[in-house]
Amino acid sequence: MKLLENKNVIITGASRGIGRGIALVFAQHGANVAFTYNSSAQPAEELAKELTALGVKAKAYQSDASDFAQAEQFVADVLNDFGTIDAVVNNAGITKDNLLMRMSEDDFNKVIQVNLNSVFNLTKAVLRPLLKQKSGSIINISSVVGVKGNAGQANYAASKAGAIGFSKSTALELGSRNIRCNVIAPGFIETEMTAKLDEKTVDGWRQAIPLKRGGQPEDVANACVFLASDMSAYITGQVINVDGGMLT
Ligand code: NAP
Repeated sequence: MKLLENKNVIITGASRGIGRGIALVFAQHGANVAFTYNSSAQPAEELAKELTALGVKAKAYQSDASDFAQAEQFVADVLNDFGTIDAVVNNAGITKDNLLMRMSEDDFNKVIQVNLNSVFNLTKAVLRPLLKQKSGSIINISSVVGVKGNAGQANYAASKAGAIGFSKSTALELGSRNIRCNVIAPGFIETEMTAKLDEKTVDGWRQAIPLKRGGQPEDVANACVFLASDMSAYITGQVINVDGGMLT
């Protein structure tokens, strides 16, 4: 069953990893996909072709999620190209890990700007069209680290916890307009980034997870399909952990 037929969705940071997985699964469910990247132009164009081959409309946009004006321009371009926006996935994110003793002000600010300001920027930019059509689903990708904290990731944890507070407030503010806002908190998801890590370390992490495996981008994408679709019409302000039971 295709759950997102004729829906237009926006995904930030879909040139790689989880965002790319979300774009592919959304397209398989019939969604038209407008997505951003920051610097990976070629992989983004290749993904746009792959999505189009699935029979949907798809387009890649270079847009720095941490920049307010670029988010506004991106939404204006999408409305021009696609007409309407039904769902938004704020996925773009970075890490700059370090122990607090060694974390620079710059590394703190940059992670907050890309991971948290980006959520504000795009939510603000889509607000007017969503209010006008009286519907919409906003999905913010946080992390189990935002729920629980993690040594060496104070900047990242703060940005991801901030996204949760922002989302709950948005859900309360916009519920009466039929605009929903939910969070997905992934655990350890195996992407190109984690493929570079030492296999023994990664296997240790897998064994510590109740389901005994790392997650795949598709695991996160499937939860996003549910939240973007009308199957979740009565769900807002929630955090769904997609973590193989890690936080249980
Ligand atoms: P990734 O493989 O590093 O991909 C990050 C994506 O975000 C890329 O497409 C990148 O575009 C884009 N991006 C980065 N900075 C951007 C900016 N300023 N503007 C626009 N796009 C930008 O990361 P991932 O593992 O897929 O993670 C995706 C999201 O899930 C992040 O929010 C991350 O915090 C969260 N998450 C990941 C895990 C995990 O285990 N992997 C766990 C929990 C949460 P370019 O290619 O152009 O740089």
